[in-house]
Amino acid sequence: MNWLKAFRSKKRSKKVEPQRIPRAEHIVSRTQFTQGTLRTLYGLKDAGFEAYVVGGGVRDLLAGGTPKDFDIATNAHPDEIRQVFRNCRLVGRRFMIAHVRWGREILEVTTFRGAITDSHERDDTGRILSDNEYGTLETDAFRRDFTVNALYYDIRDFSIVDYVGGLEDMQKKVIRLIGDPELRYREDPVRMLRAVRIASKLGFSIEAKTAAPIPVLASLLREIPPARLFDEIVKLLQSRDGLANLEGLRHYGLLKHLLPMTDRAMADARSMEFIRLALTNTADRLGNEQTVSPAFLYAALLWPAVDQGYRKLSAREGHHPNVALNQAAEAVLAQALAHVSIPKRFSLPMREIWQLQPRFEQRSGARAKRLMTHPRFRAAYDFLLLRASVGEVPQALADWWTKAQDGVTLPPVTALDVEIEATDGESLPAAPKKKRRRRGGRRRGAGSAPAGGPSSGE
Ligand code: ATP
Ligand code: MG
Repeated sequence: MNWLKAFRSKKRSKKVEPQRIPRAEHIVSRTQFTQGTLRTLYGLKDAGFEAYVVGGGVRDLLAGGTPKDFDIATNAHPDEIRQVFRNCRLVGRRFMIAHVRWGREILEVTTFRGAITDSHERDDTGRILSDNEYGTLETDAFRRDFTVNALYYDIRDFSIVDYVGGLEDMQKKVIRLIGDPELRYREDPVRMLRAVRIASKLGFSIEAKTAAPIPVLASLLREIPPARLFDEIVKLLQSRDGLANLEGLRHYGLLKHLLPMTDRAMADARSMEFIRLALTNTADRLGNEQTVSPAFLYAALLWPAVDQGYRKLSAREGHHPNVALNQAAEAVLAQALAHVSIPKRFSLPMREIWQLQPRFEQRSGARAKRLMTHPRFRAAYDFLLLRASVGEVPQALADWWTKAQDGVTLPPVTALDVEIEATDGESLPAAPKKKRRRRGGRRRGAGSAPAGGPSSGE
């Protein structure tokens, strides 16, 4: 097998001398670590072990950013870590990781991993299946994904240890895989997603040899358990860099293996604008520390496909709007689930956000009031605002609902409202409509596709 040959020829045999950057020559300060990080580092050091901050924590501080968390690497084995910290829990089946808890903060402490050898169990695409050997700082460094992720801050003398040229790549602002890129992607295809995510997080570029195999190997994502993919997609898209990540995923041919319907929708200007708005909205909310939910994110990413099916079923085939939407949602969800998992706790509210859309067209007092008490009203209303922003529904409809939430009395129906009302499928009996539409095609006012139908807001 090709990739295995490449692996054998690239096997490292001699010991590598790392570069050590003394405290005076780098900008990472202990004061930037959390209390829990310091306690864990000193706890291990005082018990006679090596302890380093590694990964995103060091990388983001060197780049002048704020790390999400601090991961710790040590030569202490899991049972030894547990002896040092009473507040410690071991997780993971094959490779055990220690979670050390300090109040609300949980630190992930990993024992140095051993080198990858031919004896590691792989599947027939090269993916590593078993991984349970411990190693040294050096073997651990070469096991990490990108050079900028393999910089170790040593709590003994506050220096940074670099085995792989990570500091140079930080300066060059490049994301580079350690070792042979094709092999490393085959070992774990999720690294392709991580390359895109970390590059946009830092504003770095993906180095040419690291970037080149991605489009070729993108289909290996199919081998990844769907639950892991779900988590990675949320990390990528429900983020302040969500839009850059989405564009990166598309650029490298990854998106079509994750969310093929979103990939196709991005070729359409209005759908792209809708998705762009949804992601920038999410990024703004994250910036304002407002809540965000994968349900809303997925509702937006898949909406262009749902909307297309919905329009087809309601306008062309004459289904009642609620029925049309349900059917379209069902079909889209089934297709999406063939690629990634969406846990029920997100897919149910996601469907509700979609299903409430036609109901915004029905603005009789009692119905409107009932809709406003629906648990998913707020998310569905935010979704309606996005649709109005791209001209999928009239802005007047969104404004009506904005006003409706202000007071007990609902705003009067204006001239434009009457026009919208005329396209409201609910007010017409379903059966005759069906017939009319079959003969009349997609005539203005004849369709029941107010949500994005050609009659609305174009
Ligand atoms: P962030 O925490 O900002 O998302 P991160 O790089 O710290 O980014 P984590 O998932 O916390 O990401 O991983 C911590 C470190 O573990 C990484 O920096 C890297 O050194 C290593 N790592 C994570 N995932 C992989 C992987 N798939 N292959 C090899 N090393 C990995
Ligand atoms: Mg991290």
